[in-house]
Amino acid sequence: MTELQAEQIRKMRTQGVGYRAIASVVGVSRDIVRNFCRAHGMDGYASALTKNIQEQMMLGKACLYCGAELIQPSTGRPKKFCSDKCRREWWKAHPEKLHRKDTAIYTMTCARCGKEFTSYGNKNRKYCSHDCYIKARFWEGLEDGVQKAAD
Ligand SMILES: [Zn+2]
Ligand SMILES: [Zn+2]
Repeated sequence: MTELQAEQIRKMRTQGVGYRAIASVVGVSRDIVRNFCRAHGMDGYASALTKNIQEQMMLGKACLYCGAELIQPSTGRPKKFCSDKCRREWWKAHPEKLHRKDTAIYTMTCARCGKEFTSYGNKNRKYCSHDCYIKARFWEGLEDGVQKAAD
């Protein structure tokens, strides 16, 4: 067995793939795969390993596609994939995930003028327009201040 084959077996086994499937992909017999896995403590733990890798994926510690370990950047958006290639392959395999909830359209009521408006993918918008936002934030604050001063 070559180092590459050993690596392939390790990787697939970590993802919970069965001996037979691994054997057909790697191109060695099922017995060789099983013996290799036994020798490396990867026998009989397929489901536990799968569960573990899924947990790691949920925690952002493993690539969603290949299960490789992820090093998260200290700033910016957390990574989900180890590479662009994995990202592309994963989206290809999960086209339905493109329609995510955060692209929903919300119908909201402006907190200042009471007009209805629609917000795309953001349900935290309060105002129908920048104008209303500015007026609510500064003008009305000012009016309050004037009111208080008058009291
Ligand atoms: Zn990956
Ligand atoms: Zn408004």
